[in-house]
Amino acid sequence: STRPAYVGRFAPSPTGPLHQGSLVAAMASFLDARAHHGSWLVRIEDVDEARTVAGAAEAILQCLRVFGMQWDGEVVWQSRRTPLYETAFMRLGSHAYPCGCTRKEIADSQRGIACDGAAVYPGTCRAGLAPGKTARAWRLRVPDEAVILFEDRRLGLISQQLDTEVGDFVLKRADGFWAYQLAVVIDDADQEITDVVRGADLLDSTPRQILLQRLLGLPTPRYLHVPVVANAAGKKLSKQTGAQALDLLKPLDGLRKAAHFLQLEIDAPSSVENFWQRAIAAWAARY
Ligand code: GLU
Repeated sequence: STRPAYVGRFAPSPTGPLHQGSLVAAMASFLDARAHHGSWLVRIEDVDEARTVAGAAEAILQCLRVFGMQWDGEVVWQSRRTPLYETAFMRLGSHAYPCGCTRKEIADSQRGIACDGAAVYPGTCRAGLAPGKTARAWRLRVPDEAVILFEDRRLGLISQQLDTEVGDFVLKRADGFWAYQLAVVIDDADQEITDVVRGADLLDSTPRQILLQRLLGLPTPRYLHVPVVANAAGKKLSKQTGAQALDLLKPLDGLRKAAHFLQLEIDAPSSVENFWQRAIAAWAARY
């Protein structure tokens, strides 16, 4: 089958309403899709049902509509796609193995600190579950000296050595939910995403996703990671760090602030429609 020229996506986790930080990610992916005359899909990443907040997905979709970001096709919900993840997981065969270690045991092993601040898994269950342990999570066996290189459209060449910087990572969690890293790879491939545009907080997840794509024989999309909005203390803006929900009555205020953050200066837009016309032109001149 021929792959479409451009398919982008916005993939929010429904942990709360859109705020100024998530609007930047939505805006960048929307602008990139529209500037390339591509389609723009929305996928609700509610695979982690423990973090899902009732009504948050609907609030996000409502906000996208009010802010003039109309998506193409049907919204996809990860919570309804678990059979896809199961099938992909089965295809990984012996690349996946069960692990019985607790978080504390892994932290105590002091193999090193992973890029995301967690402890690097010491490999205790790699050769089989250690005696007296029962399977909790399933991990990916990361090959030795697995250096993953990719070209970010904004940041240039990115390199990560997965075995030392990340270690064997979780595919299926101890609580039974599929891990983000697996679900996102399956969904991006299934939806034929050609371009992933998202916050730079996910930059160090990309090599894990590329390794999974290679093991599963899936294509690797292009990647563009945009800067992440921080709060006054320098922490990524999120509901946990005090982000306010966007004001649905003043879409132009939120849109102009997000555009300014992305270094697109759109002075005095006369309407939401006028804002997007000009923002798409400004983005197209950059990327
Ligand atoms: N659901 C993830 C988040 O909201 C984003 C996933 C992605 O864009 O790959 O942080």
